[in-house]
Amino acid sequence: QCKPHGAGALAKSGGGLYNEGTGSHKTKGGHAMRLFIAIALPPDIRRAAADTAARLRAHGAEGRFVPPENYHITLRFIGESNALCEAAEAMHSAARDCRPFLLRLSDYGAFSGKSESSTGFVTVRDDQGELRRLYETLEAALWERGFDRGRSRLMPHITLGRSITGDTGFACPRNEAFTAQGMTLYESQSVRGQMAYTPLHKELFV
Ligand code: ATP
Ligand code: MG
Repeated sequence: QCKPHGAGALAKSGGGLYNEGTGSHKTKGGHAMRLFIAIALPPDIRRAAADTAARLRAHGAEGRFVPPENYHITLRFIGESNALCEAAEAMHSAARDCRPFLLRLSDYGAFSGKSESSTGFVTVRDDQGELRRLYETLEAALWERGFDRGRSRLMPHITLGRSITGDTGFACPRNEAFTAQGMTLYESQSVRGQMAYTPLHKELFV
C-alpha cells in the first residue's frame, strides 16, 4: 500500500531511491512531473551505442544527438503525472515476477515521421521476450492503479538522435549483450536546453 510519508517497504525491497519527501499525488511547485520508466544501461553498452552514433556522424548524418549519459531503453512513457507512489508500486508489482534477463544491441534504425528527418536509434533485441513480458505486466499494474493505457507498442531501442538527416544507407550491425538488472522511474526535465533525467525510484529484478 502507498504510504505518503514513508516508502520504507518499497525502498527496502527494491533497493531504490524513492523520494520520501515527495510522497503520493503531491505536486512539486504546483506542476506535474514528466515521468517515464526505462532500463538503465551499463557503461560498455553506452560506449557501444556512442560508437554507432560516432559512425553515423562520420557517415555524414546531422541532427540533435543525445549525450551518451542520457542513453536508455524506454519501457513506458507516463507523461505528466504526480502519482509517484502509484508508479513505484506498479513497478514493484511487475518486478516481482521478473528475473534479470539478457538484451542485445543490434543494427541502426530510424523512425521517420512526416518530415524529412527522423529519430535514429540502435535496435535492441529481446530474444527471450522477457522485456515484452515485463512491459505487459507493468502495463497491467499501471492500469490497475489508474494510469492511462500506453499508446505505443513496445519497440525496444536506444535513441541516438532526433531530427536526423543524412542517415540513408547507414548500417552498423552490433551484437553486444547485457543483463537488464532492473528498471528505473525517471523525471524528465529540460535544463538550459538539455534534457536531464533524474532517477526517482528503482526496482531490481531478483
Ligand atoms: P525531447 O522530447 O526534448 O527530444 P526526450 O524525448 O529525450 O527529449 P521526453 O520527451 O521527456 O524527453 O521523453 C522521455 C523518454 O520517453 C524518451 O525515451 C522518449 O523517447 C520517450 N517518450 C516520450 N514521449 C513518448 C511517447 N508519447 N510515447 C512513447 N515514448 C515516449
Ligand atoms: Mg520527447
